[in-house]
Amino acid sequence: MQKTEINGKKVGGVSAACIALLLILVSSFGRSWTAPERTLIRKADSLMRVTTLPGDSAVLRTPSRDIGMKELRSKELRSLLDKMLYTVKDPSQDGVGIAAPQVGINRRIVWVQRMDKPGEPFEPYVNIHLDSLLGKVTVGPEGCLSVPPMRGLVPRYEGVIVSYTDLATGKRCQEKVEGYTAIIFQHECDHLDGTLYIDRADSVFVDRAWEQERKKYNYDGR
Ligand code: ZN
Repeated sequence: MQKTEINGKKVGGVSAACIALLLILVSSFGRSWTAPERTLIRKADSLMRVTTLPGDSAVLRTPSRDIGMKELRSKELRSLLDKMLYTVKDPSQDGVGIAAPQVGINRRIVWVQRMDKPGEPFEPYVNIHLDSLLGKVTVGPEGCLSVPPMRGLVPRYEGVIVSYTDLATGKRCQEKVEGYTAIIFQHECDHLDGTLYIDRADSVFVDRAWEQERKKYNYDGR
């Protein structure tokens, strides 16, 4: 987000084992890093290329998948998280949140700047899902690193309950968040469903100040 988700008694034992194996295979299918993902993570500079409309609409519009437990401890995840953080904090981007599709990876991984915590730290969330939307809906300005140099007035809920996999323990956690940080969570989780703020905005307009900023960095988004 720019500043301001058999039968048969004799073979019963074998069958149960087969079913268990099948279930493991099914549950892990698609959770491992793909070869293109590994290549992108390994080859990318610390400052990753941010995907933008219209050229990168395929990756931005594709729903993202969870990663598996094995991938949670992988060097690829560490590298991807480091590079995503470096990218969102870079002066050329200066965002308050970033989702993995914005660096070309369709996985449910985001960084969110916790405006509700002392020091406003960036925190990573893996296999994140938006469980509930809370409270009233209010309209506020929003921008997106992937939709420069636009800004829009977007209706958002004042609170959310998110769930995610804790990086240290691998356990699922749930947290209630309110205020501006809840809006960042909604924006970033939308990215993981292939939704952009412009899909929800009441109106969208060019942010002239951001336009000038991008010229300053000679950044064309490619
Ligand atoms: Zn965004």
